[in-house]
Amino acid sequence: MSDPLQSGERVYKGIAVSAGVCRGKVLVLHKAAVEVPHYGVEESGLAGQVERLQQALVETRQQILEVQHQVSQALNANDASIFDAHLLVLEDPTLIDSVTNLIYEKKINVEAAFHEFAEKYQQTLRAINDAYLQERATDMRDVTSRILDNLMGRRPQNEAQALAEPCILIAEDLPPSEVALLNRKNTLGFATDVGSKTSHSAIMARSLQLPAVVGLQGASQKIQSGATALLDGYSGLIIINPSDQTLFEYGQMSRRRAPLEEKLREMQLLPAVTLDGKQIVLSANIEQIGDLEAVKFHGAEGVGLFRTEYLFINRESLPTEEEQFQVYRQLAAELKPQPVIIRTLDLGGDKFLSHLKLPLEMNPFLGWRAIRFCLEEREMFRAQLRAILRASTTENVKLMYPMISGVGELDQANAVLEEYKAELRAEKIPFDAKIAVGAMIEIPSAALAADALARRCQFFSLGTNDLIQYSLAVDRLNERIAHLYEPTHPAVVRLIKLTADAAHTAGIWCGLCGEMASDPALTPLLLGLGVDELSTAPSLVPQVKLLIRRLNMQQAKALADFALNCESGKEILERSQALAKSAAPGLFANS
Ligand code: PEP
Ligand code: MG
Repeated sequence: MSDPLQSGERVYKGIAVSAGVCRGKVLVLHKAAVEVPHYGVEESGLAGQVERLQQALVETRQQILEVQHQVSQALNANDASIFDAHLLVLEDPTLIDSVTNLIYEKKINVEAAFHEFAEKYQQTLRAINDAYLQERATDMRDVTSRILDNLMGRRPQNEAQALAEPCILIAEDLPPSEVALLNRKNTLGFATDVGSKTSHSAIMARSLQLPAVVGLQGASQKIQSGATALLDGYSGLIIINPSDQTLFEYGQMSRRRAPLEEKLREMQLLPAVTLDGKQIVLSANIEQIGDLEAVKFHGAEGVGLFRTEYLFINRESLPTEEEQFQVYRQLAAELKPQPVIIRTLDLGGDKFLSHLKLPLEMNPFLGWRAIRFCLEEREMFRAQLRAILRASTTENVKLMYPMISGVGELDQANAVLEEYKAELRAEKIPFDAKIAVGAMIEIPSAALAADALARRCQFFSLGTNDLIQYSLAVDRLNERIAHLYEPTHPAVVRLIKLTADAAHTAGIWCGLCGEMASDPALTPLLLGLGVDELSTAPSLVPQVKLLIRRLNMQQAKALADFALNCESGKEILERSQALAKSAAPGLFANS
């Protein structure tokens, strides 16, 4: 019989979620089978079992907070916020009530009762054919296995933390708490049977810049530890026992990428200007002060979107005005004279606070969120607006409201801002009296009312992540309908044009900070539609800059004219891609 480790090349195809290629030995992580003790308990001992549950929950909470802290230090607050969902599981009264009932009804030990509850809960979630809920089942399993470990006095074992040599990890599932604790030195990349682009583990992999493939559907059962593999995070492949031919081809690919990497490094100090002299402001989106380094390193011209929500989550209480002021001031001072656009709190949707009990809503993306929430929660808004104003003395701070749906909200927000400016004046606290105020255009009604909004603010920033989901009625988190989430849909293209035109007619500028800005294939289209500023993930600034420098506006405008008269989103995408590829073929060599 042939040795399976030595047999021929085998290729498994999954979903590419984090770019890069790595090669090395495979370590397949198997969850050790859990022997859960099951025994009867006398009536007098039942209360003690419930108490043990409470203790295990407290212990688990402490562990999760610790992991969360480690992640926010090692990665960023965005990634650490994933654990807010885990903490919520611990606070769920259904969990405590159901397990307590099982203990009393069946007169059994807490481990057995908890195990029964957790299995049932996960089965129910998994049975629902919904990619998002299945990801939540993964979160749930991560937490419940921790609770069980604590009940049984076991320290959670994580083979992946103790890697003795560089490995590609393969697992049925790698929950986010395990990805967060991966041994960074010896983990080359990872692949899992389950998962989607929006899964928390995938998000984490991108932050760690670890090549990753998910959705391999059972491959972990067929691959053995010790095999040699090549993981391709561009195409979503894991190749076991790669042949000489395959290795040669990947070697060629990496050699082809080397000059591109060199070119991208050269972009750092160059301006984002088209061949015919149109200057585009190319800035970066950030979530926390720690991202500043990357903004400077990749040559962004300031910050086009500071998502301040991440100052509010991962913590037990709200940040004070003073605390916020310190962060905003540091950001503004370090980037001066480059602009820093601070977006006011955009809570709700998929971003929530662990310590504030917000009502559960049927449609959180359409619910009590962002500016709607801030206009009602005045103390919270006041602290933030005052902190931003106080930080604006460096004269490079701009303030931006999220989720403006029409003039009513913008007028209200501006009136509140004026109130706090007056307060500061009375208190003799300095601020930039000319601070620019902008509105995010991310709701179709705002794009359609852009002419009126433009008369009430100093700039726009198109939030296409939301604008697309609201225009097309496609939930941006739902993998199942991801194919319908179409940035180049003719309706979206027209809304972008409408917004840019309205801005220019009123004499203000129009930026774009949704993910569309980070896709170089769409840069020609966005330039042609008249967008003045693009704000991308820091590491993607060089690619977009390279492309801008290879384009001319005449071609971009001709493309936009075509798009505005075209009925097919696919055709619009193809035309923009073709122009981008002809301008900078090297950028698209691996796609
Ligand atoms: C957007 O909606 O495009 C945007 C930039 O904001 P967020 O992704 O934070 O909703
Ligand atoms: Mg948004």
